Amino acid sequence: MKANYICPNCRTYLNVGDRIVISAKNHKGDKGILLFSIHLGDYEIQKHSWFDIEENEVIRMFCPCCHKSLKHPKVHENIYKVIMQDEEDQEYEILFSGIYGERCTYQISEEKVNTFGDDAGKYLNYTNLINMS
Ligand SMILES: [Zn+2]
Repeated sequence: MKANYICPNCRTYLNVGDRIVISAKNHKGDKGILLFSIHLGDYEIQKHSWFDIEENEVIRMFCPCCHKSLKHPKVHENIYKVIMQDEEDQEYEILFSGIYGERCTYQISEEKVNTFGDDAGKYLNYTNLINMS
C-alpha cells in the first residue's frame, strides 16, 4: 500500500520511507521523536531508548515541522489526527489514540469509517465518527 501522511495544519508530508515522523512529549515533558508505521493496524513504534514512555502513559504529539499539536479534542481528549492520502489522492482523516500502547485507529472518508486495533471500540461509536468527518 502506497500512502502519504500529512499534517492537518501545515500540510507537510510526515512520512519518510515506511515511517511517519512525529514529535512527542512524555508526561514529564521530555521531548522525543516517534516513528510510526505507515501501515494502518501496525502498532510498532520506534523511538530512542532514552526517550522514556510507560505503557498507558498519555503522550502529547506534535507536527515536527509546524510544531502544532495534532490533538483532535472534538472527538476525545486522547485522540490525535493526521491526514492520509492514498495512491489515488483520496484523503482520509486518520484518528489515533495518544495513550502509549493503546491500539486504536480510525480511517475516515466521506461515507466510510475503517477501524484498526484491539482497542478501537474504546472511544467512539460510528455515529460520532461520521459526524466528525
Ligand atoms: Zn504541521
